[in-house]
Amino acid sequence: MTEQLIKAEIRVEKVYLCPHHPEITGFCDCRKPKHGLIVQALKEYKIDPMCSILTGDKERDILAGQNAGTGKNLYIQPLLKKGVF
Ligand SMILES: [Zn+2]
Repeated sequence: MTEQLIKAEIRVEKVYLCPHHPEITGFCDCRKPKHGLIVQALKEYKIDPMCSILTGDKERDILAGQNAGTGKNLYIQPLLKKGVF
């Protein structure tokens, strides 16, 4: 995904990944729909959540954005199915 964004001339500052799995490491705050990684990024880059747009292709992505208080949460799964991206 990062390569596709860079090809589209979108600068990627950092990628945040949840290293946990509920069955192996137990539950965490960063696995979606939890919003720990989003909050971490908002703090790290001093981003106003209300001025932010989250895109996701899973319902849990949108829930994570809503839990983090992002201003707009765009569900792009229908667009992916149409081949827009
Ligand atoms: Zn995690």
